[in-house]
Amino acid sequence: MHIPANDHTVRPWIPFQLKRLSDPKHPVRHFLAPIVQRIGTHVGDTVVDLFVLAGSDLMGTIGIPRVVLMETSLNRLLKEGAAPVRSLRQRLMVLLSADNAELRDNEALRQKALVPAKDAVMHVAANVGDYTDFYSSRQHAYNVGCMFRDPANALLPNWLHLPVGYHGRASSIIATEVNFHRPCGQYKPSPDAAPVFGPTRQLDFELEMGFFTYEGKPLGQRISTDEAEDRIFGLALFNDWSARDIQAWEYVPLGPFLGKNFASSISPWVVTLDALEPFRVPGPVQDPQVLPYLQYAGNKHYDIKLEVVILTSGGSETVVSRSNFRHLYWNMAQQLAHHTVNGCNVRAGDLMASGTISGDTPESYGSMLELAWKGTKPVKLDDGTERRFLEDGDTVIMRGFCEKEGLRIGFGEVRSTVLPAV
Ligand code: MN
Repeated sequence: MHIPANDHTVRPWIPFQLKRLSDPKHPVRHFLAPIVQRIGTHVGDTVVDLFVLAGSDLMGTIGIPRVVLMETSLNRLLKEGAAPVRSLRQRLMVLLSADNAELRDNEALRQKALVPAKDAVMHVAANVGDYTDFYSSRQHAYNVGCMFRDPANALLPNWLHLPVGYHGRASSIIATEVNFHRPCGQYKPSPDAAPVFGPTRQLDFELEMGFFTYEGKPLGQRISTDEAEDRIFGLALFNDWSARDIQAWEYVPLGPFLGKNFASSISPWVVTLDALEPFRVPGPVQDPQVLPYLQYAGNKHYDIKLEVVILTSGGSETVVSRSNFRHLYWNMAQQLAHHTVNGCNVRAGDLMASGTISGDTPESYGSMLELAWKGTKPVKLDDGTERRFLEDGDTVIMRGFCEKEGLRIGFGEVRSTVLPAV
């Protein structure tokens, strides 16, 4: 396997399942069958099976117990913290470089440890204990405020002072290529009508990114903006599916509930903050100045290009949004500092999502609600049909990548299809 010198697409790490294990004649099935999910890292078209590497003599010096790499999820690895995971990443980059002979010349080990990506089934990287969703894109908050209030008072009074968020549902976070049925719930067909029960008529996506945490601090202790990035493992693409009609009726006064918790899709590969180092960019000037615990130094935003595609059941693909992770007003360090400022503890494998990421132009809005402006400007698809919200059979695909001076890091994609209500 040849790894270009500038290729940093070592994307630790995900649990995956080898399709070939289902082949009863496969030689590794016998002793690995009870452990179907492993963690792996991704290079080019290949998944490197860390379970197999951990059982070899190539991983002796990384300061992480080998059994941690033999787990079925990332949680125990994330408990180790940033420094050990950084040394593991460094070791893998050495092992996978073209001029290193240790793995390159060990054909027997390569046969076992290197798996074509197409033969692996992806899972959610960690068993998410707690999931929090923020609301950190100013343009998104402004757009929603314009639609449901008025442009003069689009942002609520707290919005520029703190990263607004709510506690989401971890149990319904689903892996890419896992589909779900259109949710049913209670909503009002029109403002003056009585509420009815039925399949949502306003199913939407939200273009977001989510970060996984290392072990935070004990209950009662804060994580500062300076400390925050050392508690963040990495980022994945995140689609926070939303049923707007259910949400609109239920959310007063405690916030989102059944309009959100039926499913949230996440991409399998987690790109570490270390890998994203070359893509740091300045954030917006925050005016009014934020309170001291939310102030930060250095560039803590990241330039990650994002796009959303709707693939119809007829096979037509349309890019409906092009956005960028850098459009956030509140960065991850501020989100984590705010989350813990009251003493709330964060655990290894928690997930925090950004909120819908909308840019300044209509083509960069991150939800159908905004793209079709509450149904008043239907989105035209390439097959000639229109969408105000999503239809049964629509597949939503989110993709992301960073690119700069010949260095490209892909986030892969997250995709899921809307099945009819049951
Ligand atoms: Mn959201």
